[in-house]
Amino acid sequence: METQAKTRLLFAGGVNQDRIGGNCHLLEHQSSDGQTVRLMFDLGSIFLPESSGFSTAYPDVSAFFDRINPKTQEVCKAQKPTDALFITHAHQDHIGALISYVKMGYQLPPIYSSKTTNNAIRLFFAKAGLEPPKTVNIEREKPVKFRDCVELEAFDVSHSAVDALGFHSLTFDRGKPVVAVVHNGDFSTDEKMPIGHSFCKKDYLSLIKRKPAPQTIFLFDSTSIENSALKRIGFEQNVQNTLDVCLQNQDCNIIISPVITGSFNNAAIDFEVARRLKTKVFLDGYGLKIFKDALKLSGYTGFDELIYHGKMQKYLKDESVPLKYIVCTGAFGQGLNEYKHNIGISPTSAIWLSSAAKMALDLHPDLKVSKEYLFLMRQHFIKEICSHFGDELCHRLASKGARIVVAPSENKIGDFQQIQMQDSGHIGFEEMLSLVGDIRSIAPNMVILPVHGSKAQRTKMQKLADLCKVQSILVSNDECVEIVGGGLKICPQTQKTAWLGETLVFSNGDLQDGVVQIWKLGENDVPLEKIVEYENVKKQKVPYVAVADKNKKGRRRKQNRIFQNPKSGCER
Ligand SMILES: [Zn+2]
Repeated sequence: METQAKTRLLFAGGVNQDRIGGNCHLLEHQSSDGQTVRLMFDLGSIFLPESSGFSTAYPDVSAFFDRINPKTQEVCKAQKPTDALFITHAHQDHIGALISYVKMGYQLPPIYSSKTTNNAIRLFFAKAGLEPPKTVNIEREKPVKFRDCVELEAFDVSHSAVDALGFHSLTFDRGKPVVAVVHNGDFSTDEKMPIGHSFCKKDYLSLIKRKPAPQTIFLFDSTSIENSALKRIGFEQNVQNTLDVCLQNQDCNIIISPVITGSFNNAAIDFEVARRLKTKVFLDGYGLKIFKDALKLSGYTGFDELIYHGKMQKYLKDESVPLKYIVCTGAFGQGLNEYKHNIGISPTSAIWLSSAAKMALDLHPDLKVSKEYLFLMRQHFIKEICSHFGDELCHRLASKGARIVVAPSENKIGDFQQIQMQDSGHIGFEEMLSLVGDIRSIAPNMVILPVHGSKAQRTKMQKLADLCKVQSILVSNDECVEIVGGGLKICPQTQKTAWLGETLVFSNGDLQDGVVQIWKLGENDVPLEKIVEYENVKKQKVPYVAVADKNKKGRRRKQNRIFQNPKSGCER
């Protein structure tokens, strides 16, 4: 009997119990004539709570890549070879695991993304002292084909990371379409981005219309679906509000704006405000500098004249720049967590801290916070991402006399002035209703599959689907969606999802000298709050003191970094 074509969607991460991040899923298609295509979408890290004891964790997808053991050079073939890795955009929760996998000896398949995202990835690899992976820039309306049974086309989405993409995949069997999967990534539909491409509903709907299939599954970002109270105000109003705050606080002559590293569409607000204030912006943090270079390489140079080129000490003393406007890393208070874990171990080990965290802890080499400082906390402090570190960051800075202005959010912090200065870059409830209505008129068979958010957020997205009378499915990371003969069902995955937890101790604040320890976490999905309770983690966990000692050795012999192989895949 002839076998039927089978398309499966596997979730290694990104549909978590109670946390955001670790985005990674796979599309696996087997045609009836025995061909298999396997495509991976994003490979990011998850935002962890302090109680986990880990700096970061990411999905264990070691079975999908070939590996050359860095110690023995032994080659181990992938159990499930993967043809390509598609990256939606260069935020940590979508790309954060790439470098770690390569350092462990895994051979990534070719990476397909926008030119801007690829440039950023290549620069991050170069900064880490690694050979950049093979990247392919996707050109819009030029489909990529895999063995005549999967055809993939990218589309533009609006998001805070510049040139973010979504992907439309269509699987075929003997020339006939089987299923279309529309992976929207992190996106909003009604924001016109200041830098790079934006979502175009007309193009999006025409792409869906051009590629009909018996089943069309939409993966929708559900992270901000709950936050419907906050209406989007657009770039111009965000600039105006930020400018007003700066003018209301003219007694502060140092403005600090912490942003998410890859979010140059947010930094663009600062560039425009700086232009109107007739000053120049200083970028503080190597991640921001990498993105600036990635954008320049991609042809975006418009903001370059608004950036100060030179050392920070020179900038601070430069009288031709009377108002100091510093865009820095640390929108979520990143680093306070790591600092707390490592403090007291070694006075010489400088731990990785975002610029904002360094300021809050009086560890910044050039900036000493005083009442001259105005902090623009424009990013919402999302509990699932930064636990209470956003609050702590604000309070620590305020205790040094700084003036703090925060974006309004459900997570109210202190009694600081609140003003909206930034849109979220994620789709809201009303926007989603309108989009689903439009899609349904051209693809009445649509199925909504909420991803990326916590379970509560994904459930909210499911309610929206009910409201629109559209079928929706909620999956866990241990499940997969299988489409055979026109029927769709949710099945348990043969291999349970696991996470690789990583502890980083950075020397001299430099990522490439970091010592990394990797542990395979429990066989279960999140809650990751519980991961430290797993026996195997407890046993293997090296006290921080030991890690710090190894770090010193590592610094003497530069290449001798420690990467423990997770007990999985090849080693088993
Ligand atoms: Zn994002």
